[in-house]
Amino acid sequence: MYRTDLLAGKRILVTGGGTGLGAAMARRFAELGAAVHLAGRRLEVLQETAASIGEATGRTPESHRCDVRDADAVEGLMMDVARSGPLDVLVNNAAATFVARTEKLSARAVDAILGPTLHGAIHCTLAAGRRWIDEERRGVVLSILSTSTITGRAFTVPSAIAKSGVLAMTRSLAVEWGPRGIRTVAIAPGPFPTPGAWARLRPGQRERGEGPQARNPLGRVGEHIELANLASFLVSDEAGYINGEMVTIDGGAHLRTSGAEDLLGWTDQDWLALKRGDSSK
Ligand code: NAP
Repeated sequence: MYRTDLLAGKRILVTGGGTGLGAAMARRFAELGAAVHLAGRRLEVLQETAASIGEATGRTPESHRCDVRDADAVEGLMMDVARSGPLDVLVNNAAATFVARTEKLSARAVDAILGPTLHGAIHCTLAAGRRWIDEERRGVVLSILSTSTITGRAFTVPSAIAKSGVLAMTRSLAVEWGPRGIRTVAIAPGPFPTPGAWARLRPGQRERGEGPQARNPLGRVGEHIELANLASFLVSDEAGYINGEMVTIDGGAHLRTSGAEDLLGWTDQDWLALKRGDSSK
């Protein structure tokens, strides 16, 4: 789909890059010529992913243990990354969430979501942005958000709050940091199977065919490579005029909210009955 050197010469840091969508983006960035850095709390997981990316692409990412909730640790991460050369792209991908009745959430549970998802993204963005501004370098911040930024999301309310906060940061900094040569962009993924996201389904839901694909206009979930390709484009120079924008990649799922989608299950007979004025339908 892209030139194999689309991201050549770029240094890209992916938070939460050891698993799921973060690992998929990291692999694609490496395939397209980038030098990739992975950050997360579990060094062994990062190193395992880095080794498999190295085997597949010939470019082994560097692994950095870091808890993005801790601003000092994030400063240390940025210093470690800078040792092998200045950063060009930050991908805010690390996040946490779980399903819960909102009125039952303790303050600690709320913090457990806001910490990595909201504060982590802010700490990383400020640490990267300060350096770019001090050194008069260009940069890109890509944040992985959610369609909850458009629809809200019952039962994962702290995550919806955090993702909307990061969207506000993305739009605000587009204006404030755009003149400094820094673009801020975002992706709102719909359902992409990852151990992290799928663990949030109810037990047996996927097996019974009641998972997100059943409600998706395209009848399927997303493939990791689809998101990784979108991310590669957005962080590349080819997207140099896209700033402050969030791109949704969900098969149209977030638009299925009018109630009219009940009609998707109607048969030709049902439609005929409606036309004939049969009010039983
Ligand atoms: P995932 O596999 O659970 O990835 C989350 C990553 O974040 C893990 O690698 C985790 O690594 C890291 N992380 C969590 N807390 C951290 C912390 N305090 N410091 C540093 N790293 C931390 O989930 P995923 O499905 O790939 O999700 C990736 C992103 O896509 C998230 O932002 C998620 O909200 C978003 N998203 C996913 C979907 C989907 O369907 N998959 C849909 C919408 C949005 P450690 O535990 O080792 O730290």
